[in-house]
Amino acid sequence: MKIKSIKHITPDVLQIVTKKPPNYNFTPGQATEVAINKTGWKDKKRPFTFTSLPVDDYLEFTIKTYPPHKGITNELLKLKKDDELILHDVFGAITYKGEGVFIAGGAGFTPFICILRYLQLKNETGANKLIFANKTKEDIILKTEFEKLLGENFINILSDEVTHEYAHGQIDAEFLKANINGFNQQFYICGPPPMMEAIVKQLTTIGVIEKAITTEKI
Ligand SMILES: Cc1cc2nc3c(=O)[nH]c(=O)nc-3n(C[C@H](O)[C@H](O)[C@H](O)COP(=O)(O)OP(=O)(O)OC[C@H]3O[C@@H](n4cnc5c(N)ncnc54)[C@H](O)[C@@H]3O)c2cc1C
Repeated sequence: MKIKSIKHITPDVLQIVTKKPPNYNFTPGQATEVAINKTGWKDKKRPFTFTSLPVDDYLEFTIKTYPPHKGITNELLKLKKDDELILHDVFGAITYKGEGVFIAGGAGFTPFICILRYLQLKNETGANKLIFANKTKEDIILKTEFEKLLGENFINILSDEVTHEYAHGQIDAEFLKANINGFNQQFYICGPPPMMEAIVKQLTTIGVIEKAITTEKI
């Protein structure tokens, strides 16, 4: 698929928009494996989540880049409009099961971008809440869009920067209790495995039943 546009939306996150293959369907939260259509890279696939909506006539990916890995995401940094990506089958990952709390760390926000945009499209944003953990303020992906979409239900916490606007530190039981009204709802967690394990443990200790917790590692 040809790249229609490629740009940075945070210092290390790229937004890549491509053409959409005919009859290519997915549900919000799903991903595909992506390779670069360039000699030496065609068979190197990595999973990325769709952040465009199923109804859009293009595909959008929101990709955190890791130049030191010298892998795919570093190579994506060299691409420009009209270069091509190779997309594979669509697969699982997180799906929406009802109103609740989305907890994301860094690039773990990507499945929630699609799910929350889709809920907005259907006028079903309701009381869904997003808790988004990042290192610094400039790492917050699509800050303006999600402030508008979720209002007071968009809660940020920064581990490496102290600000006037946002909480500082890591998500712990005290932070969860202070920011969540009631634990009898759905919980969706996506981020690096150590963060997810810690949060699942805190939620179950608070009394959330396992069935109400959906996780996906990124
Ligand atoms: C279902 C799913 C959906 C995902 N969706 C998204 C998404 O939408 N957006 C997003 O940003 N990410 C997403 N990810 C994560 C994404 O797939 C990885 O960040 C990506 O595969 C990294 O690819 P890479 O080739 O750049 O680096 P890697 O595959 O991590 O590394 C390439 C090579 O670098 C070496 N390496 C590994 N770690 C290090 C290190 N710390 N330092 C130096 N070298 C190292 C290894 O030899 C490795 O083979 C998703 C993951 C999953 C499982």
